[in-house]
Amino acid sequence: MRRPEGPGKTWVRFYPLVLAIVIFPLVFWARDGLYFDSVYIVLYNFARAGGLIGLLLMFVQFSISERIPFLERGIGLDRLYQVHVRIGIVAGVLILLHALVLILQELVSSGLISLYFSKTLGIVAFLALPAAVLPAVGRRRFRLSYESWKWLHRLMYIVFPIGWFHSFLLGTTVNSYPAVRTFWIVLGAAFALLMLRKLLRSLGIRRRPWFVEAVDNRSEMVTGLRLRLPEQREWDHLPGQFVFLKLETQPGSRRFLEAHPFTVSSAPGSEQLELNIARAGDFTNALSSFPSGGSALVEGPYGRFSYRIHPAESYLFLAGGIGITPFLSMIRSAAESGSRQPMHLLWSVRNDESLFALEDLENAAASVPFDYQIFLTREGSADSGQAGDGACPGKKHLGRIDRACLEDLLEKKQELDPKRTAAFICGPEPMMNDLSEILRQIGFSRRRIITEQFSL
Ligand SMILES: Cc1cc2nc3c(=O)[nH]c(=O)nc-3n(C[C@H](O)[C@H](O)[C@H](O)COP(=O)(O)OP(=O)(O)OC[C@H]3O[C@@H](n4cnc5c(N)ncnc54)[C@H](O)[C@@H]3O)c2cc1C
Repeated sequence: MRRPEGPGKTWVRFYPLVLAIVIFPLVFWARDGLYFDSVYIVLYNFARAGGLIGLLLMFVQFSISERIPFLERGIGLDRLYQVHVRIGIVAGVLILLHALVLILQELVSSGLISLYFSKTLGIVAFLALPAAVLPAVGRRRFRLSYESWKWLHRLMYIVFPIGWFHSFLLGTTVNSYPAVRTFWIVLGAAFALLMLRKLLRSLGIRRRPWFVEAVDNRSEMVTGLRLRLPEQREWDHLPGQFVFLKLETQPGSRRFLEAHPFTVSSAPGSEQLELNIARAGDFTNALSSFPSGGSALVEGPYGRFSYRIHPAESYLFLAGGIGITPFLSMIRSAAESGSRQPMHLLWSVRNDESLFALEDLENAAASVPFDYQIFLTREGSADSGQAGDGACPGKKHLGRIDRACLEDLLEKKQELDPKRTAAFICGPEPMMNDLSEILRQIGFSRRRIITEQFSL
């Protein structure tokens, strides 16, 4: 049996790959870059190294954002995007320092900047970089909508090739060593291939649109979407995985809105894809007034938040609000396959009105060893427990999922022994952090706690 995999392992898998790419040209740079004769020389050489590493890291960024299955499989797209943000900050800072140091040094030594083609390319990339990177890092501070910052961030598709040409024509290390020059050509070719792959993938997805069969209000805050598979198309996903969805602006317009990620709520093998979507912003608020009958583009599936990827003897599912969606798919899948592995779900919601999937839970509970409890954080009709029933008696409670409830649950349900159980958490970030911490305290090892964040 494969062991569940916690977040710790992901770094071990990805960063050596990044290091291997970066170290190769640095070995050559070190031959003439490690001189410490004066502050001027040191700054100059480190600015050169910054340019080399920055550009290579930018390339890594493209490999991440292209959602290559080989990379995604080991780590999961949500974590890969967290890595993307961190690497992006390092790459941006290195390239800005590279340009600033070299420009300032030239200004100090000769009083002006000589401009010629290869250098002008570098300056153009340097000037465009903040416009592409800053909105991605400080989106909330700049109050940019997701769509606007994404468009600005796409400037990177121009910045990288310009930066590549600049270093190819002017870079000292690149031009001094045939091995590094060859490496740079391979890098340029790999970027071109990534762009070609992107184009072909997007054409392929556009050629086979899904049909929007139904759009309905599942609760005041949640819209349900049912999509029908295009003909002659096979679809397979693991329970718990998500897709990127693009909806047609108007039925028949063939123009599509920006892609948004949503978890599939239906079980694998179903002819329809069910998505449950909570109101969070422009797109999700407008969704309930979308007409059915239009087309949708679906890309995926992605993600590693599935009990099939992290098998264990039993499962503890902790959901907050709309974070129930991956569990709906897992529970339905278990019910359809007749699984006998115990599953227990704790679902935390605001109030009774938020319980849009209660019927699905009850249906599942009737056919598999599955049980659930509801936690109402604001208000609602809770069960009244009896003295001696423990911290969280009955099916419905007022309050949050806390340590006392979890300890109580584990005491009553021996099958949820932390040594044999995989705990999955999906919900708002503070809730996931708190619950991960509590689970660690009550005996779950890191690798038995699997989380999914609903933001990339
Ligand atoms: C792996 C994953 C699975 C998800 N599954 C579900 C689900 O099953 N049901 C559900 O209701 N929500 C889900 N979400 C969240 C959902 O994608 C966002 O709520 C939605 O995209 C918000 O779009 P908006 O324009 O309405 O809101 P906005 O106000 O534009 O965005 C609100 C927040 O959502 C995120 N977001 C917005 N657009 C995108 C985008 N195109 N790509 C990535 N993140 C974006 C950003 O963090 C943003 O701050 C999931 C997110 C992820 C990453």
